[in-house]
Amino acid sequence: MKVGIYPGSFDPVTLGHIDIIKRASKITDKLVVAVLKNNGKNPLFSVEERIAMLKESVKDIKSIEVESFDGLTVDFAKKMNASVIIRGLRAVTDFEYELQLAQTNRELYSEIDTVFLLTNLRYSYLSSSTVKEVASYGGDISKFVTTEVANKLIEKYKK
Ligand code: ADP
Repeated sequence: MKVGIYPGSFDPVTLGHIDIIKRASKITDKLVVAVLKNNGKNPLFSVEERIAMLKESVKDIKSIEVESFDGLTVDFAKKMNASVIIRGLRAVTDFEYELQLAQTNRELYSEIDTVFLLTNLRYSYLSSSTVKEVASYGGDISKFVTTEVANKLIEKYKK
């Protein structure tokens, strides 16, 4: 069974992430969406909130698990018996960082390979941070995230 993990902060999950998850689920037997706990990025949503939003977003897709992890991605991959790490690429600007990360991960654990899926053009500009910025100023985020996530963002910024 080919297990893949798709690690990230998902703070919060966007339609760009969901597109990658859907496509990655077609090339793996099981896909574990792995929410990073200790990324020092000062997340807006707690890990529990991010997991709940992801679970709601992927409930109709088969063979998806949503888990949290901290520490090294490769250690989590080993624990899950994963042989591939899935990452999304939006633009050239993502490439250098992703290349470093993928090479490092393979040095750390030679059994693992990183598979990059190119973003759907519709979402190539989309990032969790832009969505948060638009939401914080009361802008319309309905084209970027699911209705459930949009409501959570509106709620957060009301406080
Ligand atoms: P990280 O903190 O690891 O960058 P993110 O949650 O921002 O976590 O992203 C997780 C993964 O999803 C990364 O591989 C990122 O490149 C990819 N990604 C983010 N937004 C998009 C998008 N709009 N289209 C395709 N891939 C995306």
